[in-house]
Amino acid sequence: MSQFWSPAVRGLTPYVPGEQPREKLIKLNTNENPYPPAPGVEARLREFPADHLRRYPDPQSLALRTALAHEHGVEVEQVFVGNGSDEVLALAFQAFFCHGRPLEMPEITYSFYPVYCRLYGIEQRSLALDAQWRVDLDAFSSDSSGTIFANPNAPTGHGHGRQAIATLLDRLGGQVVLVDEAYVDFGGESAVPLIGRYPNLLVTGTFSKSRSLAGLRLGYAIGSRELIEGLERVKDSFNSYPIDSLASALGIAALEDKAHFDACRERVMTTRERTVRRLSELGFEVLPSQANFVLARHAQHDAAQLFVGLRERGILVRHFNTSALRDFLRISIGTDDEMDSLIEAFELLCR
Ligand code: PMP
Repeated sequence: MSQFWSPAVRGLTPYVPGEQPREKLIKLNTNENPYPPAPGVEARLREFPADHLRRYPDPQSLALRTALAHEHGVEVEQVFVGNGSDEVLALAFQAFFCHGRPLEMPEITYSFYPVYCRLYGIEQRSLALDAQWRVDLDAFSSDSSGTIFANPNAPTGHGHGRQAIATLLDRLGGQVVLVDEAYVDFGGESAVPLIGRYPNLLVTGTFSKSRSLAGLRLGYAIGSRELIEGLERVKDSFNSYPIDSLASALGIAALEDKAHFDACRERVMTTRERTVRRLSELGFEVLPSQANFVLARHAQHDAAQLFVGLRERGILVRHFNTSALRDFLRISIGTDDEMDSLIEAFELLCR
């Protein structure tokens, strides 16, 4: 605690991201994609003229937004881009949820949301998941400042279908409903086709997972023109140029290669199902997942000890030390070889 910190900074509890280890480990802790980005990304990187970096990038990121609009079948005015979807989320909290009423979110969801609540002084109302560890859409109420959840949810992996989201939106017309689709490309159903019907729906997405570009920091939001304008107002009061020229060029190259995108996500989904089967055979309970990770617990083995045992064998997974998640490990889906190593390690640890 420093005397120089403002009272607001003293009250913060910053988000702790998964470890980025310096030594070479099998890294299954931050839901990165095990496959490289589209070959066109590397080609564009090599041919990018360094002289372009002399100039500021386009503050509106029109080229990238146009490519995203094309990809999602929406107008460019319905697309916002940011430096990772974390930044887009942060701007959305400020733009839409600072109303003096609590923001509703599931009790178990992306743990950055409560951090933003503290940053912006937003009261948070947490709602229990249902008995199957799914987000309980019926529990959200209309007397809040807004609603946020990840779909598929993190770290549980369950995703609701579009019809269920539409039913929720029919009920919550007066507030922003933010659906975080960071993991939707691994078997979820996107709510983007609903944005024409619901001006209060904001969907966020990222290049970090299904596009293998976590290091580039590109995220986006899709919603009605009025919501996108709200985000732009906050962005232009904070940072005019969140997307650098190189990131924009590489993001566009990634969007151009649908075959690579589909092949990588298919591989991740196939490996996930294989991993689920093998973990189940070892006695794990694995929650059904539509994401590039699984949440698993073992009735006989302590998750914290398993975490340490894996780490000693060069494998890094995620263990959340909260009362609800203490028994679980969250395991990102890597290559088949990486998952074989994980299973071999568990075979020794769970004997
Ligand atoms: N939403 C969810 C649910 C996530 O798990 C993550 C990744 N930690 C993000 C958003 C942020 O991803 P990024 O900033 O890399 O786009």
